[in-house]
Amino acid sequence: MIDFFSTITEHFSDPRKRVFLGYIFLSIIIALIWLLAKKKLSLKDALRYLFNKSILFSKSSQSDFKLFFFNRIFLMFVSPLLVTQLAIATVIYHFLQSISWLEFGMFVETPKLIIVGTFTTFIFVLDDFTKFIIHRWMHKWPILWSLHKVHHSATTLTPLTIYRTHPLEGVVFIIRGSFTQGISISTFVFCFGNNVDLYTVIGVNVFVFCFNVAGSNLRHSHIGIRYWRWLEYIIISPAQHQLHHSVAIRHYDKNFGATLAVWDWIFGSLNHSEDTEHLTLGVKEKDISEPHSLHTLYVKPIREIYTTIRSYVGHLFTYFKAKTDQH
Ligand SMILES: [Zn+2]
Ligand SMILES: [Zn+2]
Repeated sequence: MIDFFSTITEHFSDPRKRVFLGYIFLSIIIALIWLLAKKKLSLKDALRYLFNKSILFSKSSQSDFKLFFFNRIFLMFVSPLLVTQLAIATVIYHFLQSISWLEFGMFVETPKLIIVGTFTTFIFVLDDFTKFIIHRWMHKWPILWSLHKVHHSATTLTPLTIYRTHPLEGVVFIIRGSFTQGISISTFVFCFGNNVDLYTVIGVNVFVFCFNVAGSNLRHSHIGIRYWRWLEYIIISPAQHQLHHSVAIRHYDKNFGATLAVWDWIFGSLNHSEDTEHLTLGVKEKDISEPHSLHTLYVKPIREIYTTIRSYVGHLFTYFKAKTDQH
């Protein structure tokens, strides 16, 4: 029980977490400046717009809260069973050692400043790229889409919507994180020895820290801040991620990026921001009567995956039967 409560409070007190209260506070300040300066609202109207009760306490937001809590319980039990970054790092490290023409610490003489700068950038870029790729797969592969649809079923966005995921999507992303960290740490330690370190601010990778301080939480909000066109090729703006949640067909499969927009630019899925004030958010599903019920969010995806796998197996069975009948 104590473990559970510390996991919950840690999300708001640990600067490595997106919803760290310091980042939320800065996001509120950024949003207020935007509403006052860009939207020309009075302070009273800006505050009313920002803390819109019909968004903060909507059915969708209430289910975000529930999923946040229930997923923490699920992951508390499942996380210890998953492969760790240490295990992955150890396997890769031994593999590199077995290659005869590679030598431990071959670049150990490199100035520490360069090693730390390269490692900090590499781990950030690899982490962001793997998030992009897996997010893209989540939209392309029916089995993964059944899970990811839970995130997209949100009809209003608040910072907690980031945790509105099916717990199995959480598992996929924990494994992704372990691989990213394991690969980065083992290869860098093998090449550069013990000089490998991260540039951090309050224990957070400096790039991640800058992104969070710059209002990362507004991506899941109704504050449609848009960047300059040139910047939206490099970093995903809040309005660009809000378009990713739109039900409009022209926004389908756009803006998969977490922090960097360059991946969407390279893979042809970049959509520059638009005015998001009148966007309809969610997924177009005819058969969902209760889109925010825990049954729809937890059980329905599993049933869908079961049906998809059964139809795949059925097709395979028919294919092999036809082949054997030919012979
Ligand atoms: Zn998505
Ligand atoms: Zn989202």
